[in-house]
Amino acid sequence: MNTKDLRVNGKRLQQTLEDMAKIGATPAGGVQRLTLSDEDKKARDLFVKWIKELDMEVIIDEMGNIFGKRAGKNNDLPPVMSGSHIDSQPKGGRFDGILGVMGPLEIVRTLHENKIETERPIIIADWTNEEGSRFAPAMLSSGVWAGALERDWAYDRTDINGLRFEDELIRIGYKGTVPAKNWPMHAYYEYHIEQGPMLEKDKKTIGAPKGILCLHWYDIYLDGEANQVGPTPMEGRHDALCACAEMILKVNELPDRMGGNMVATVGEIQNYPNSRNIIPDKVHFTVDIRSWDDELGIKSWELVRKDFEEIAAKRGCPIRIEETWRVEHAPFDEKLVQGILDVSKELGYSSLHMVSGAGHDASYMNQLAPAAMIFVPSIGGRSHVEVENTTWEDCESGANVLLHAMLKSANEV
Ligand SMILES: [Zn+2]
Repeated sequence: MNTKDLRVNGKRLQQTLEDMAKIGATPAGGVQRLTLSDEDKKARDLFVKWIKELDMEVIIDEMGNIFGKRAGKNNDLPPVMSGSHIDSQPKGGRFDGILGVMGPLEIVRTLHENKIETERPIIIADWTNEEGSRFAPAMLSSGVWAGALERDWAYDRTDINGLRFEDELIRIGYKGTVPAKNWPMHAYYEYHIEQGPMLEKDKKTIGAPKGILCLHWYDIYLDGEANQVGPTPMEGRHDALCACAEMILKVNELPDRMGGNMVATVGEIQNYPNSRNIIPDKVHFTVDIRSWDDELGIKSWELVRKDFEEIAAKRGCPIRIEETWRVEHAPFDEKLVQGILDVSKELGYSSLHMVSGAGHDASYMNQLAPAAMIFVPSIGGRSHVEVENTTWEDCESGANVLLHAMLKSANEV
């Protein structure tokens, strides 16, 4: 058959996603499939069963990453890979991650039933612990595979109950023997829900992010003076929480002040002693700044840092600032991104050249080989929540774009 007319089976993709959504299903329609939990094991078992049915080779590495490999005509050529993650946030959604593993599975099913061979091998990947919600940090095992993180350091990550990553990997039977070490790749694609509102707002079906925003993390520690709230007059107080409150608003106003093209968030705060009748004397909070423009991110931080110091001085609350983590913005391969836009057009789908505000396993793959992502709309722009949703029609459209993007890469010699 002419591969130009080839399309995935949308109903089968829907059924596959629905079967997966039963594993760890939550009452409000989401899933809870934390990394290396019993639910993660069940979902992995099902995925492995499905790739075996397609006569694919199953490779499990020492980080529990699962690869399904479909032979090409020439197996000496570096493969085309596509993957994402099976794990979820606590009370997460039915699409984040899993769509990027079941999507390429549907691609291989389509190729299999149509007896279509590709020049290069095709590999589907499930990366262990992308979410980082049970074991920090996020993208742990794609990071080890890419050589950016140490395996033994990853093994020693513990969850909130003190359970070790490696022990849990062994417990669920997914500590493989293959070294978690990258092999040459011709191209890497990750199919994912957008997790933001842009596609829906613009009424576009396919998003082709030109890359992932820079990510700057800061930790702020404030000292105040604790005292009984009743007898202590307002005048002369050193209230660390009030200082923090002013700072949070400065962070929130920052993108506007900088003329847009960035986001800034305080998402975490600890207040001590956190008692209603004691003036807070210690506060810790985090600042997250993201932009396509690394310089803008740093300039805005310098500006808000000055505000923080002024507020701290005015309120008599000594401040300590840690610049915790900075990851530069990561542009995807221009040729692959353009390829996704072209394929979308050929298939008759509207598309948007955009950016990704969230981190993905593709960030690490992007350091190794040409990489790109395919986004489909998130209803209401919501994700990491139980109401996370994407229409079945959009899931199918994105899979068709993935199919043709992968076919093109896999037939390049
Ligand atoms: Zn994800």
